[in-house]
Formats: sequence, C-alpha cells, structure tokens
Amino acid sequence: MTWVIVPAAGSGQRFGALVPKQHVLIDGRSLLEWTIGRLAGVPQITGLLVVLAANDALWPGLQSLAGKPVLTAIGGSERADSVLAGLLALPTWVQDSDFVLVHDAARPCVRSSDIEKLLHAIAGTNGGLLAAPLRDTLKRQVDQSRPTHVEQTVPRAGLWRALTPQAFRRAALTAALKDAKAQGKVPTDEAQAMEAQGMQPLLVEGAEDNIKVTTAHDLAFAQFLLRTAGDKK
Ligand code: C5P
Repeated sequence: MTWVIVPAAGSGQRFGALVPKQHVLIDGRSLLEWTIGRLAGVPQITGLLVVLAANDALWPGLQSLAGKPVLTAIGGSERADSVLAGLLALPTWVQDSDFVLVHDAARPCVRSSDIEKLLHAIAGTNGGLLAAPLRDTLKRQVDQSRPTHVEQTVPRAGLWRALTPQAFRRAALTAALKDAKAQGKVPTDEAQAMEAQGMQPLLVEGAEDNIKVTTAHDLAFAQFLLRTAGDKK
C-alpha cells in the first residue's frame, strides 16, 4: 500500500498571482490538479492525501481520482508541519512499515516513470528521493559584499538537487518529523529529517524537468512541458 502526501498548504505568491501558487491555472487546470492527476495515474499509488491551508477556498473538493481515494488534511506554518499533519491523517490501514511518498504540489511535471523508478530502487531499503546532479559551476558570494562578488568556487562533484517525490516508511518519517519539531528544527525536505536520525537516504536520479514552480518563468516552462507531454486530462 503506497499513499502519496501532497503538501499544498503554502502561501507562495512569489510570481505575483492573486492566489497561492498551487491554485494558479495552466490551460484551465490548477497546478495542484495537474500534480495530483499525474500521481493518481501511477499504478503503484493507492491513495492521495492533499494537505491544504486552513483557509483554502479553492480546493475543488475531489474525493477520488482515477478510482483512487483522495483525502485532505489541514497544514501548518512550515512545509514540514504540513507533511507531519498529512502523515497523522493517513488511514489507519496504512502500515507503519509502508512507504509513504511526499510530493510537492508545485511540481506538476513529475514523470510517472521516475516515480516507478524511485519505488523500484527503494524496495528493501529505508527510503530515498528523486534528485538530479548539479550541472552548473557553483559560486559562494563574499559575505555582505555589495555589489556581490565571488569568494570561491564550490566543487560541484557529488552535489545533487533534491526533488520530490521522497519516500520513507510511515512510522520512521513520522518519528523523524516529530523529533525535528521537538528540537526546533525546520527540515526543508523529508530526507533532511531522516538524515538527522542517522539515515543515508538513497539518491535516485530523476528528470531535471521535474521543476518546482516558483517564478513566472517556471510557470511558463511548466506550461510548455505539460503541453508537450499532452496529458491534458
Ligand atoms: O514554498 P515551497 O515552494 O518550498 O513549498 C513546497 C511545497 O510545500 C508546496 O507545494 C507548498 O504548497 C507546500 N507547503 C505546505 N505548507 C507550508 C509551506 C509549503 O504544504 N507551510
């Protein structure tokens, strides 16, 4: 049984839209609808749990998608709080040892084949994440310098960009996020919370176009990618 939690409780409005970015439309469908449509189409996914902001008036109220149950929960002030709320709201029949996927609402271009690759790779492990190796040369800026100057080049060998989905076992991820919260830490992804428990999550290379829509430019790029893929269901 593999459920996916979709944190969609952010207020991100960095590209100046009047609605939170998960509700911004691409060709008549919200980012969130594109994302959950992709997830529901993955055969191994059993159900979806969408985490919404308490004041969300735009959620279309779906209760099932592609024959799979869609549940909702109310999120918190940080992404990690929202994911924890989702874990606590999963049905009781999702076992402690079952993998739970976590996938950002803001990543509508994720490929089914990458999700299947991730699930295949983590079988028999404690979990892992989709990620992409860094391609650009990295620069660290001189502290406080204005205009900004380069202090040094950071070697990029062995560095990856963390994407989603990330997949960990239900009880272990719940415990890791509770521990982080108790210690006043705010992990920015699930893997970081698991790393703090001494775990070394598996890095599974995924497509680089699984972008997180953050800016207006990202939105245009996502539209291009979704139109090209042609899955306007
Ligand atoms: O803000 P950021 O782009 O990192 O958010 C990643 C995902 O986490 C988005 O889908 C956003 O809606 C979600 N999120 C959340 N609860 C928060 C903050 C972000 O569910 N408090």
